[in-house]
Amino acid sequence: MPFPRDVRDLALVKSHRRCCVCHEFGGRSVNVHHINQEADGGENTINNAICLCLRCHAEAGHFNPRHPLGTKYSPNELKAHRDQWWEHCLSHPEEPLGLFLDVRFKALSRTAKVHRYRLVVTYTNTMREAQDGWKLKICFPAFLPLRYDDYDRSEISFDRKPYVQLESSSSDRIFSGESVDIVPFRAHFIEYEVNDEVYHNIREQHKIAWKFYTPNAPVIEGEKSLDEMQEF
Ligand SMILES: [Zn+2]
Repeated sequence: MPFPRDVRDLALVKSHRRCCVCHEFGGRSVNVHHINQEADGGENTINNAICLCLRCHAEAGHFNPRHPLGTKYSPNELKAHRDQWWEHCLSHPEEPLGLFLDVRFKALSRTAKVHRYRLVVTYTNTMREAQDGWKLKICFPAFLPLRYDDYDRSEISFDRKPYVQLESSSSDRIFSGESVDIVPFRAHFIEYEVNDEVYHNIREQHKIAWKFYTPNAPVIEGEKSLDEMQEF
């Protein structure tokens, strides 16, 4: 049995839709998890609920007692993380007000000969006001065999290495609480294709970096290695 709707909603609001363990903003991918599993008699009440991001949710649920690698998340520990975070959220009501940008590559196909990845960038407006428009600048190592449609391209230097910068913008109004896939956006896409050999050589050393601008909020800047960005 999942949690009743009102319990789920309350847990999401009390956590500011952030993970109670790592505090990452979860947006649409946050989970309301049972601290004590239902199979062990855990109830569907707020006292047994915790918000977790996908990564922490998998970590909390996948400990195998027959192969005890790592440190298990105990119900008491999860409860303590949650209570600490709820208390923090209650005393810092202003903190959920920021923008959230999720940047990653999704594998479209993956064999030894062809790995094809498409960039997915999702923007969530967690400000109280609507944002009128946005601009994204995203930089890729110059050797990456990119295919893209309808972006402004320029060549720049980053970490003293050659990079390609792609830029895109929109004047669309994004309302408070709304999530939008800004890449791919309408007909725009950014993809790259490599084989096994190239993939293993490039994935750790090279970074993707971005800057994201909106009219009424601070610029969001970020970077990740190719390795950290891939999802299958
Ligand atoms: Zn987490």
